[in-house]
Amino acid sequence: MSELGFTYDTVVIGGGLSGMAAALRRNKRGDKVLLLEKNQKLGGKLDELKWNNFRWDKGPSLFTLPHLVDELFELFDKDPRQYFKYELHHENCRYYYQDGTKFILHSDENQRRLELSQTFSDQEANAVEDYLIKAASTYNAIGDLFIDEPKLQWKDALKPKVLKQYPKVLSSQMLRNLNRFNEGKLKHPKLVQLFNRFGTYNGSNPYKMSGLYSMIPHLELNLGTYFPKGGMRSIVDGIENLISETDIEIRLDQQQIRVEAKNGGFLINSNGRSILSKRVICAIDHVTFYRKIFRDNKQLNRSLVEERSSSGLVFYWAIDQKFNEIGLHNILFSEDYKKEFDQIFGGQIPENPTIYIHNSSAIEPSDAPENGQNWFVMINTPAGVQPTEKQIGQLRSFIVDRVRQFVGIEIENKILFEDHWTMKDIESITGSYQGALYGGAFNSKMASFKRHGNQSKKHKGLFFTGGSVHPGGGIPLVLKSAKIVDQLIEEHG
Ligand SMILES: Cc1cc2nc3c(=O)[nH]c(=O)nc-3n(C[C@H](O)[C@H](O)[C@H](O)COP(=O)(O)OP(=O)(O)OC[C@H]3O[C@@H](n4cnc5c(N)ncnc54)[C@H](O)[C@@H]3O)c2cc1C
Repeated sequence: MSELGFTYDTVVIGGGLSGMAAALRRNKRGDKVLLLEKNQKLGGKLDELKWNNFRWDKGPSLFTLPHLVDELFELFDKDPRQYFKYELHHENCRYYYQDGTKFILHSDENQRRLELSQTFSDQEANAVEDYLIKAASTYNAIGDLFIDEPKLQWKDALKPKVLKQYPKVLSSQMLRNLNRFNEGKLKHPKLVQLFNRFGTYNGSNPYKMSGLYSMIPHLELNLGTYFPKGGMRSIVDGIENLISETDIEIRLDQQQIRVEAKNGGFLINSNGRSILSKRVICAIDHVTFYRKIFRDNKQLNRSLVEERSSSGLVFYWAIDQKFNEIGLHNILFSEDYKKEFDQIFGGQIPENPTIYIHNSSAIEPSDAPENGQNWFVMINTPAGVQPTEKQIGQLRSFIVDRVRQFVGIEIENKILFEDHWTMKDIESITGSYQGALYGGAFNSKMASFKRHGNQSKKHKGLFFTGGSVHPGGGIPLVLKSAKIVDQLIEEHG
């Protein structure tokens, strides 16, 4: 029992990556930590599916800034490589367009230049390199203000470190939307489309979000993309092994959690058992938290105003052939990208969507039999809009047709097994309100300032981490979010 009769110093609600990271960080500080998770396993969106000799990661497939995972092991003086391994993957993505154009984007500058010069021109290749230099300088100048630190408040506007960055923050990059910024820098419509796609890395609309997000490609194309040995799920497995070496208590299958402020701390009822904790870290979507766990209608109504990021429809296909045309990451672009985003953020399932194919068996042979491939095929869909069975069938046929037209391969009779994840599945399995992949969208210039913060203004001891709060969704940001929460607790208790 810790001070004032609290059974725990910290109760973390939600055992996704962010909740696991927050639990570890607080444990390291000496807190008695309890982690409550509603599912029967940890990991949240980093779930996996197995069928015969095939394995799929159900959620994230793109892994950047792996040192943020390593940090968790290093915190406990452990060698991260004893827990999980990963490799830099120079080939970033294969791009396919309707007119037959195809090329591979690399994180190695020479290879990238060569490929872009051959596909477009030397000038276009130079424009991409200039773009990436600018992306790096923006990231280095303001990344820490927007990503590494608690959310900026209006009162921070006159702090010297913020003032120093005004030229960047208030630059034309900020005032234009990402698409306008890209049109100004890249000119070629295919490259503009390609760099607009980085807006989807936080589930947002490139025709609305700030041009400052042109810093996102810096992570993938300058710093590189990685892939863990054994797939993305191995990140969770490694962290779970680390947790098992600590005295963090985990309770799975906690379907009914209620929290209320009490005695200067929190009374938590979980599956009928009551406990008192000094503080609570919410590591689930904050909308779900206010709606189901910490019933606060005022705060809920405030959160509901926020526009949601996109959701997705993902097909998991066991393919009965090895197609060398399909690499680890592949994109088949739609012809009218603006219309696609108008539909997604206008609440319509896009009729002609861009298709993302992830095939981990390209570099992880154990994920599929020798003559097969494990395809994860995703299209972006609106949050809160469930595709009908008919639409799912139509989109499946659309994808098979597009693969034939764009890539030149026939898969119709090669799909041995299939499953899918829809917006409703993502919502019910991971608790993300409306199945949004990244919490709120960044579809306005002020979106970063409006995002839910990491600390409750009303309740001392209530903190928020994970994809729906500051600094945003995606593996690197949810890990940063846990780090920010840990620091806030150290500073404010
Ligand atoms: C299909 C898909 C593709 C993606 N692609 C990428 C990618 O390529 N790269 C990338 O970086 N990111 C990607 N993302 C986003 C990334 O997965 C998330 O931002 C990140 O995993 C969120 O982690 P989290 O810990 O905040 O939340 P989650 O992983 O959602 O974890 C939340 C946890 O809380 C639990 N929970 C929910 N409600 C309750 C409750 N009431 N009581 C108790 N527990 C509860 C859930 O069961 C879950 O375990 C993708 C997401 C999806 C779905």
